[in-house]
Amino acid sequence: MIRPAELIQRKRDGEQLQDDELSELILGYARGEVPDYQMAAFCMAVFFRGLTPHETYVLTDAMIRSGETIDMSGALGRKVVDKHSTGGVGDKTSLAVAPIVAACGVPMGKMSGRGLGHTGGTLDKLESIPGYRTELTLDEFIAQVRDVGTAIVGQTGDLVPADKLLYGLRDVTATVDQLSLIAASIMSKKLAAGAQAIVLDVKVGNGAFMRTIEDARRLAEAMISLGHQAGREVVCLLTDMDQPLGAAVGNSLEVLEALETVRGRGPADFHELVLDACGKLLALSDLEVDEAEGRRRAQQAIADGSAETTWNRWIEAQGGTSDEAALPRAPVVREVTAPRAGHVHALSAIRVGNAAVHLGAGRRTKEDAVDHAVGIVCHAKRGAEVAAGSVLAEIHARSDEQADVASREVLAAYEIADTAPHERHVLLEVVD
Ligand code: URA
Repeated sequence: MIRPAELIQRKRDGEQLQDDELSELILGYARGEVPDYQMAAFCMAVFFRGLTPHETYVLTDAMIRSGETIDMSGALGRKVVDKHSTGGVGDKTSLAVAPIVAACGVPMGKMSGRGLGHTGGTLDKLESIPGYRTELTLDEFIAQVRDVGTAIVGQTGDLVPADKLLYGLRDVTATVDQLSLIAASIMSKKLAAGAQAIVLDVKVGNGAFMRTIEDARRLAEAMISLGHQAGREVVCLLTDMDQPLGAAVGNSLEVLEALETVRGRGPADFHELVLDACGKLLALSDLEVDEAEGRRRAQQAIADGSAETTWNRWIEAQGGTSDEAALPRAPVVREVTAPRAGHVHALSAIRVGNAAVHLGAGRRTKEDAVDHAVGIVCHAKRGAEVAAGSVLAEIHARSDEQADVASREVLAAYEIADTAPHERHVLLEVVD
């Protein structure tokens, strides 16, 4: 039997641990045999000393072995693709990508999470649709992916219980933002869910975990290496999160924007990223097309309405209404206007994200309820030329008081200057 105190001490002193020691520590923690206080100390030792790439793989593998795994490809008899984003402000990419990829004939079943802090969660967004069920049994999930082409649910079954425990512990011990721990946490869930090819979207900027492109690259490389060691294909997009993605931030507002994008009427930056992700996913699928052809097919599915038809079938299959008029709307809508003429030089993602949390669109703690109706629509994004008094953004609030506070916060997120900023595309780099 391992002695956790000894492993904590050796990691604290910068030693590399043996495979069986690290595995036993994680599996023992998942079984309830290693107490939280020792695992918290271990995470802090890892925070300061790091893990080698091999230790990161052993950790990921042990986390996967703490629960059950799903063989999606075996169940469907098809190569299954998946995507994952490290999370940001206004990131509703999965909502648009899943029905487009499915309309192109590639099955995409996704297990998603809830938001915490300024980063929203896909499940919270979907729950703004009246009737939508995020909890399907594994059989229902697989049957829906087979029949409709897509399903997005909360985690089904007992997938990676070690991550559920560890993530909760890291959240309250200031050990979330450690590269190996993030890579193991994300990839253990993706690998356990059984997709053979995975497109990762690592967000970079003030609204993301990774603030610099160098850190984002290191995280991408760590996750790609974990995927390859498990025999999966992985491609990683590094994408901008210095400003919110698209215009809408807030649950039902983001659902509407994703639907508009599936119809070909989404904001330019979001539309671009959706096509980038679809192109990569289709190129990794069993359609045997290259990325350019994948992108062309995604555009075709948007243009001919098949992506919207798949959206409606997907939402209805999961019990939701496809009538967008039924989405919750906030009672107070307030415009934020430009105090002067000029160019939008910056629109801080973290400030907009925090304003949305203060409105109630996100949670400060895991126990908080989310208000699905409220949020912010940023009409003017970086690079836009604005006149004095023109509308920069719209606040959707529960009350006048909340709208007042959010208006001030959103205005402070805008930096308006005399000259235009350098152009910066949403897709910054591809790592594969
Ligand atoms: N998302 C995860 O699932 N895990 C992390 O550690 C960080 C982001």
